[in-house]
Amino acid sequence: MGPILGIAVAAAGLAPAPQPKPLSVGTATAVPGRKVYGSLDVPAGIDPGTRIDVAVVQGTKPGPVLAVVSGAHGTEYASIVAVAKLIQALDPAALSGTVILVPLVNVASFEQKVPHVNPVDGKSMNRFYPGKADGTQTERASFLITREVVDKCDHLIDLHGGDLDENLRPYSYWTVTGNQKQDETSRAMVLAFGLDHIIISADRPKDPKASRYLENTASTRGKPSFTAEAGRSGPVDPKDAAVLVTGVQNVMGHLKMLARAAPPVAKPVWVGQIVSATADRDGIFHPSVDRDAHVVKGVKIGAVTDYLNRPLHDVLAPESGIIMFVRALPSLKKGDTLANVGVIAKEPR
Ligand SMILES: [Zn+2]
Repeated sequence: MGPILGIAVAAAGLAPAPQPKPLSVGTATAVPGRKVYGSLDVPAGIDPGTRIDVAVVQGTKPGPVLAVVSGAHGTEYASIVAVAKLIQALDPAALSGTVILVPLVNVASFEQKVPHVNPVDGKSMNRFYPGKADGTQTERASFLITREVVDKCDHLIDLHGGDLDENLRPYSYWTVTGNQKQDETSRAMVLAFGLDHIIISADRPKDPKASRYLENTASTRGKPSFTAEAGRSGPVDPKDAAVLVTGVQNVMGHLKMLARAAPPVAKPVWVGQIVSATADRDGIFHPSVDRDAHVVKGVKIGAVTDYLNRPLHDVLAPESGIIMFVRALPSLKKGDTLANVGVIAKEPR
């Protein structure tokens, strides 16, 4: 800025450039132009407390508050690594608004390598929202995340992936809340994210007091949000982590938080319904399809034997569609999911 213009601005009495809104998440207080690290400290209650790490990255220009959360299931490693990488990759100088990043919600699951649940109380950490201050550890953590992350953001992205026992093809979910404006915003975010398979969730709870899922906790509070999954069966494929990192950056471009083009997915595959094949007995599972196979209802997708390899029964596709994930491990107990088939739907209007 030249000196003449500088005098003109001062003479006009213009306010200083607008800044992002002040924000604290747990022990982390945002500073414009900086990355700040802190934690959500879940106090001890009827079982032990825990600490969930959080990073808050704030730009120097105003913009939305985006929350990015992963590791509700602590062995869905690609998503956890993706959010950790995002913390490193985000440059506050290039950012408008604020990003809240929580890479690992379920610390005990990660440390002990226990899939699906928090081993402290045996509960899934994506089923007990909005949580309870006097519940078990999962419920207290969910209560704190609702208050500190959901209530303080404008948008939320919850990242998951195939768990230790899931051979999963990447996909996003688009939740239909019935609020047309909100649903258009979340749909545009999902399309900007970039995964081309999108499950339409039309049956999520509408009651914010019984929202169950994290994304749904944000959506029922009027914040356009979504869930995406990539990664499978333990080891992190760098390509899976990369699509999640790029996807979040694309959404940030779409929300004008980054100067970045984010065109919508050209030809999304919409999945209208998920039909599960479930184990009706214990045994060894032998899959005969890979993730992403296109199957016809009734075709063989695997077999179950006893521990002496005597055949018990074939597993048949419960519906025609895409294998969204198939069981990745031989271990099988009654009630386990063998495969999820996604039934292709027309593009929603
Ligand atoms: Zn998960």
